Amino acid sequence: MSDIINLLPDSVANQIAAGEVIQRPASVVKELVENAIDAGAKNIKVVIKDGGSTLIQVIDDGKGMSQTDARMAFERHATSKITRAEDLFSIRTMGFRGEALASIAAVAQVEIRTRQEDSELGTYIEIAGSRVFKQESISCDKGTNLLVKNLFFNVPARRRFLKTVATEMMHIRNEFFRIVLVHPDISFSLFDGDKEVYQLPITSLKLRLEFLFDSTARKKMDQQLLPIEANTTLLSLKGFVGRPEFAQKSSHQYFFVNGRYMRHPYFHKAVMVAYENLIKPGEYPNYFIYFEIDPAAIDINVHPAKTELKFENEKAIWSIVLATVKESLGKFQVAPTLDFDQPADLDIPVFSRNTPISYPKTSFNPEYNPFDTASKPLSKKRVDYGWEKLYDGVKSLAHEFESSQLQPLDAENQQSMELATETKELLQFKSKYILSSIKSGLMFIDQHRAHFRILFDRLMKQIEQRKGISQRVLFPEVLEASANEMALIAEILPELQWLGFDLELFGTNAYSVNGVPADVEQGRVLPLLREILAQLTETELTAKETVHKSIATALAKNMAIPTGKVLKNTEMEQLFTDLFHCVQHQYTPDGKLIIAIVSNEEIERKF
Ligand code: ADP
Ligand code: MG
Repeated sequence: MSDIINLLPDSVANQIAAGEVIQRPASVVKELVENAIDAGAKNIKVVIKDGGSTLIQVIDDGKGMSQTDARMAFERHATSKITRAEDLFSIRTMGFRGEALASIAAVAQVEIRTRQEDSELGTYIEIAGSRVFKQESISCDKGTNLLVKNLFFNVPARRRFLKTVATEMMHIRNEFFRIVLVHPDISFSLFDGDKEVYQLPITSLKLRLEFLFDSTARKKMDQQLLPIEANTTLLSLKGFVGRPEFAQKSSHQYFFVNGRYMRHPYFHKAVMVAYENLIKPGEYPNYFIYFEIDPAAIDINVHPAKTELKFENEKAIWSIVLATVKESLGKFQVAPTLDFDQPADLDIPVFSRNTPISYPKTSFNPEYNPFDTASKPLSKKRVDYGWEKLYDGVKSLAHEFESSQLQPLDAENQQSMELATETKELLQFKSKYILSSIKSGLMFIDQHRAHFRILFDRLMKQIEQRKGISQRVLFPEVLEASANEMALIAEILPELQWLGFDLELFGTNAYSVNGVPADVEQGRVLPLLREILAQLTETELTAKETVHKSIATALAKNMAIPTGKVLKNTEMEQLFTDLFHCVQHQYTPDGKLIIAIVSNEEIERKF
């Protein structure tokens, strides 16, 4: 009888492993730069060509390798950094799996030149697809110079999935940031071809932060950073947070643990809570927060890409993060509530944070087709939806809001709408509100919240009817996910499909996104999916109903017209009409007021 189970040849095993460790050029950059840091380098130069698809080169002045070590380094699980399993818990160096070089050499053409300080001659090795083609002694600088050419040259399926040069470069830049932000004591440079992208001298952390942002942004950075610090028995924490007035739609948000970048949606939430009422919705503060914690209290080994960590005491850390950020914002005299030019009593808080929100059942006018904008010649025929009646006494209603009290547009109302032709002028105010004069005063509609409500209802309907409109994408994006997220996605795959997402399993840690809902812009897909996952991670998913609402909420909120967007008249009208077709048009799905009225009396009183 002959054996049927053979050990996988190393080259195959390495290729499989490479799929986990090396997802794109940025992963190579990360691994090589981390190795250089581990080797004690003080100067690290990174050169990229064509977004890393043709060349990634990392040159360091670290301790280098002996000839034997240089050869050994490309074996799987060859690492000089741990010898026993227990060492995994006291990891202080960046890499520890001994997988990176073997993986890279399995899927690229690699040249290495390396020399230790006390050796006269260095070593040159050429290796491609796990096969060594050349090994010889050479004279070279002290340290290590590693070239990775034609990544995925032997895995065409993966090479095809590389994105545009700009996108890959962006990923590389992100990885670069995550590393240089913890090592101000090392000088780094990044070149895109011959072009110098960053040249970062050895400095303090604060100056490193300022240096990373281009000259115009640098000054801003200097003004906005507030130091934070906390020392507790559980962990110590330091870093900088941005002043709220510098919050932006996209900002720089980083957590680091023991010198390692970490993604942590839960702690992110803690920071965001500290900024509550200080920043506009949809904007984010910059933050750079560094944890030092006993490695025994974390499990780094949860994800191969090593950016997701589990902590033993997440709840307590959450409170520490929140309190520390809050304290700093207070200490540096950030006003408790900043005036964003919004009329003070416009936003009546109806729910306390913990009150469960009851969702009204959505029901639609059967004649009304939200997908068919062509069938509504809105701009030609103005209609009055009889909303004045609905808003008499809206404020008292607001205080004791219950879904049962809301009045849907009944048949009578509908009819009066169709008949009325009175022209309503709509005016946009502060790129945030739509203003309309009504019988009882002046009505403000929050444009973002209104659209949020409209989209939410639309998406819920789509889920209920199980038919989303999907558009195929030309270049599928790849959604990388942790094990937890992978499980979550598998669970909600049907719902995503009903909404128009077409996801396909791509390796063990990713999905490729082949189709997206018809009105989702390219480029917004991954953030949207991330948002859905984040939302679901936070919700207790007991009932399908809750799952559906979470997904619809995340999607709708992110697709909704943002505050600050200037709207055309026709857009305002559309929004206006759509909003009043929603059964629940006064509140967003998460319980925020959409409409407020400044009464005639209030206006009169001012005169
Ligand atoms: P790991 O970093 O997890 O140990 P790698 O595959 O990244 O695994 O590297 C394997 C080994 O090669 C490292 O443990 C280290 O001894 C050596 N090595 C890699 N890069 C360098 C470098 N730039 N300078 C010196 N030694 C290096
Ligand atoms: Mg390594």
